[in-house]
Amino acid sequence: MLIVKIAVLFPELLGTYGDGGNGLVIAERSRRRGYDVDVTSVALGDDLPDADLYLLGGGEDGPQRLASDLLRRTSFARRVGDGAHVLAVCAGLQILGTTFSVEGDDEYEGLNVVDVVTRRGEHRSVGELCVRVEDETLVGFENHGGVTRLGDGVTALGTVLRGRGNDGALDGFTTSNVWATYAHGPVLALNPWFADRVIAGVLGVELEPLATAADRLYDERRLTLRV
Ligand code: GLN
Repeated sequence: MLIVKIAVLFPELLGTYGDGGNGLVIAERSRRRGYDVDVTSVALGDDLPDADLYLLGGGEDGPQRLASDLLRRTSFARRVGDGAHVLAVCAGLQILGTTFSVEGDDEYEGLNVVDVVTRRGEHRSVGELCVRVEDETLVGFENHGGVTRLGDGVTALGTVLRGRGNDGALDGFTTSNVWATYAHGPVLALNPWFADRVIAGVLGVELEPLATAADRLYDERRLTLRV
């Protein structure tokens, strides 16, 4: 029996927007496919546990800096380099990069997992976010001051249909084991296809669709948005 080990990192710092709900969605959709799931919430002062999937959520500027500083002192970046998976949202996305400056223009060191840089934008980006991800549509809401530029060769998660995302054109980034987006929601509750993509990536399996209320609501939302 495969066990999916999920670690929700510092929800007291990166939990302002309810992104910890992404862990619940992964857990429930995995269980309904017959997989065992172990979800750990990592608090300040805890050792970083071994996990198949680390979840990073959104947060305010100060807690975001603290989370980055704390994680830089752990084996997080090495584990991700070795293939552990990560789903990161907003502040979580920003700290995965090389540097970020969201509060004033001071630059802070990120976790250097992906070659991206976040600078303070002229305006906050607040509102609905809608992103084309290949033949799927990702919906959510965004609330951030940062503008993120991808380094050469870094692949965006998708292209922005509505809202701002990284820079008005692209949202997030993805590698073989990392998914990052500016969309809150929690994003996996709003986008069941994205949850299944993450689960399939972590487990290396193909998944049959599920007929849950979340899947039906997603289809209805897509019709309403006409995207
Ligand atoms: N503090 C960051 C910013 O404003 C991230 C905000 C968030 O996670 N929603 O850019």
